[in-house]
Amino acid sequence: MNRSSLYFLYNLRSTYPSAKVSGALESTRKSERKSMELAGGGKEETQQQRFDVVVVGAGIMGSCAAYAAAKRGRRVLLLEQFDLLHHLGSSHGESRTFRATYPEPYYPPLVVESLRLWREAESEAGYSVLTATPHFDVGPAGDSSLQAAVASCRLHGIDARVVGPDAAAELFSGAFTLPPGWIGVVTDVGGVIKPTKALAMFQSLAARHGAVLRDRAEVTQIERAGDGGVAVATADGRIVFGRKCIITAGAWVKKLADKIGAASLPIQPLHTTILYWKIRENYLKSLSAAAGFPTFASYGEPYIYGTPSLEFPGLIKIAMHGGSPCDPDRRSWAAGTGPGGAAVEAVRAWIGRVMGGHVESADGPAMSQACMYAMSPDEDFVVDFLGGEFGDDVVVGAGFSGHGFKMGPVIGKILAEMAVDGAAATAAELAQFQIVRFQKDPKGNRKEFAEQDLI
Ligand SMILES: Cc1cc2nc3c(=O)[nH]c(=O)nc-3n(C[C@H](O)[C@H](O)[C@H](O)COP(=O)(O)OP(=O)(O)OC[C@H]3O[C@@H](n4cnc5c(N)ncnc54)[C@H](O)[C@@H]3O)c2cc1C
Repeated sequence: MNRSSLYFLYNLRSTYPSAKVSGALESTRKSERKSMELAGGGKEETQQQRFDVVVVGAGIMGSCAAYAAAKRGRRVLLLEQFDLLHHLGSSHGESRTFRATYPEPYYPPLVVESLRLWREAESEAGYSVLTATPHFDVGPAGDSSLQAAVASCRLHGIDARVVGPDAAAELFSGAFTLPPGWIGVVTDVGGVIKPTKALAMFQSLAARHGAVLRDRAEVTQIERAGDGGVAVATADGRIVFGRKCIITAGAWVKKLADKIGAASLPIQPLHTTILYWKIRENYLKSLSAAAGFPTFASYGEPYIYGTPSLEFPGLIKIAMHGGSPCDPDRRSWAAGTGPGGAAVEAVRAWIGRVMGGHVESADGPAMSQACMYAMSPDEDFVVDFLGGEFGDDVVVGAGFSGHGFKMGPVIGKILAEMAVDGAAATAAELAQFQIVRFQKDPKGNRKEFAEQDLI
């Protein structure tokens, strides 16, 4: 047994009772030997434990990465700690906004490429998960983030039409009453994604391309394997080997990185809530996606976002970006949802001010759902090689900070390219997603426009 294997065994022993750990390693080797003996040296069972790419975490990022790698003919294993399509992370539920308006100029090209990939996957699957709508941003005319979002759209040739309060009142059935001094920005690149359906789509496409999906398989250790690549242990005592590994563990990524002795990632889990409000009787149809009502966001404090009525007839989603720090394994599920909860009050006040003619807010939300952000200090993603002892063998996609879903297909493709080819072939600016930025400055990328106070 070489030094690496011993170290791995030592680490596993601290996670499991020693008998079980050595049993796990032993049984893997025995089964490999047995398989070879029984099959006359056949490699079938050995190969069942060996993959080109092992993906840890089956949220949207891991599911898209597994699909992208499997589509390229690689042998892929996707491991998920809970049941597939669970509701305990960030990728479940009924709606996510698709939009291209970002103050940072490096996101719109990713959004545009992602749109192409969403449509490609839909046509491969034979059904749709993304409903196109316009997108409408509102906020104070002088808001530096809103101004930067308009500029970055125009930089990339995305039409962003700026309107004042009077013109805004003519749009979208007059649903938005902009306060004096506010502007609205209309773009055609918008839409609503069905997240759980989208996850199921990418997982089934990945399986169709030969990926193995294994749920209830919590990854407890990742270590360099003696013969190259990585060894990945799960809580049930199984060990698999991957030439490469992609970690897409969402809000658990810091816990996992700390456990495997990798560079610590400053990703803070935030508990957040999605709120649904009653649409006033006369506007049930006009606020629907079918009638062309937009996805929308309101800049400044608080940052509010919403989607047209689609998933629950008579209700519209209007929520506040941000949340309260939490431990992903010990959440207070009701936090912030009750009367007087910070998010409820902030959204209620915003509705009264901007959409009060069309949406009822006096009695509070009709419904709420819990979700979780994996927030980076600068709200930019982490898409990088893990480095350290793992070098280029482990790629990490993390810190999607409450806005990553729309870019799942393009990020998954980039993660797969990094794992399979050693570099991303997709044209994208990735420098601002590197881990090293936190070593240079714990707050990460500095931005010229105002940042929202989200926590
Ligand atoms: C309320 C809310 C609203 C949002 N709105 C939008 C929006 O409008 N538009 C948008 O683009 N984005 C939005 N987002 C953000 C988007 O949903 C997330 O960025 C995205 O879902 C993150 O996906 P992920 O795969 O990184 O994380 P997750 O979905 O959390 O997936 C990580 C997975 O890894 C698994 N895992 C963790 N550790 C282990 C382990 N040790 N072993 C095995 N498995 C493990 C977890 O169980 C989980 O399934 C929103 C998020 C929330 C919460």
